[in-house]
Amino acid sequence: MLRDSFGRVATDLRVSLTDRCNLRCSYCMPPEGLDWLPRPELLSADEIVRLVAVGVGRLGVTEVRYTGGEPLLRRELTDIVARTAALRPRPRISLTTNGIGLVRLAAPLAEAGLDRVNVSLDTLEPETFRRLAHRDRLTDVLDGLASAGAAGLRPVKVNAVLMRGVNDREAVPLLRYCLERGYELRFIEQMPLDAQHGWRRENMVTAEEILARLREEFALTEADPAERGSAPAELFSIDGGPARVGVIGSVTRPFCGACDRVRLTADGQIRNCLFATEESDLRTAMRSGAGDDELAERWRAAVRTKKAGHGIDDRSFLQPSRPMSAIGG
Ligand code: SF4
Repeated sequence: MLRDSFGRVATDLRVSLTDRCNLRCSYCMPPEGLDWLPRPELLSADEIVRLVAVGVGRLGVTEVRYTGGEPLLRRELTDIVARTAALRPRPRISLTTNGIGLVRLAAPLAEAGLDRVNVSLDTLEPETFRRLAHRDRLTDVLDGLASAGAAGLRPVKVNAVLMRGVNDREAVPLLRYCLERGYELRFIEQMPLDAQHGWRRENMVTAEEILARLREEFALTEADPAERGSAPAELFSIDGGPARVGVIGSVTRPFCGACDRVRLTADGQIRNCLFATEESDLRTAMRSGAGDDELAERWRAAVRTKKAGHGIDDRSFLQPSRPMSAIGG
């Protein structure tokens, strides 16, 4: 078990497969991109699968989410998913993606054993997309979403981040778009994880504001909190259900007390929290010949020191030096 000193047990492993991305969303990285991790530092597909197998077989991991950067850019993704699906006990396997490339990959990934996708979609306006992501790829994202649904990757979940003065007028259009297509939409408060360190709390569109805007158009009823478990989204049924919308108040309504996550970066570092300032280097240990028992013990030790929460509101809060693209969202 991956138990921390507060008694929380990590069962949800998020694995970043690459720090590269084909978009440049302003809340993540600058338009010119970043210095990517040198290739020799990246875990190979074999190394990824070995560490995931240690997590699943020895440490109680039950959910594996592949992230990035943009995980669809990792050429061996389908193979990694297939080998993950062959592990016993079989974990649930999901993918967080910007959707570009799903037209080609959704069906092979579903066949390989992928269970679900979360696709980031912050705007339906081509000009706003270009401004926000510095690329003209909105159509690719929307087509990717449709392909995910057609491939049976249900429910198709959509993640949206609203930014003041950029796309905050789009809460209702985004929800209508998702409702019409049977996608489950979740709004996520923007967190201080951008490489440019440009996040300001006062610019963040809060969960409260998002709900107020949605309530102007829809009747929202809070779902039974017991259903939420350790999931970060507060769920609301829309106009009596069954359709629902989620709001993730990562900053103003933190859910760290129920956190069940642990992260593995693309270069083989265990991070016990999105905002951890320390990492545990499994790559060097593995490449120096550590066996699975030793890797599992190092991993357990890394989780034991997990802090109570992100502490974004503490005066002493320090944004992690690695940007989100290198940590895995
Ligand atoms: S901020 Fe850290 S402790 Fe809080 S939910 Fe996220 S990963 Fe878990």
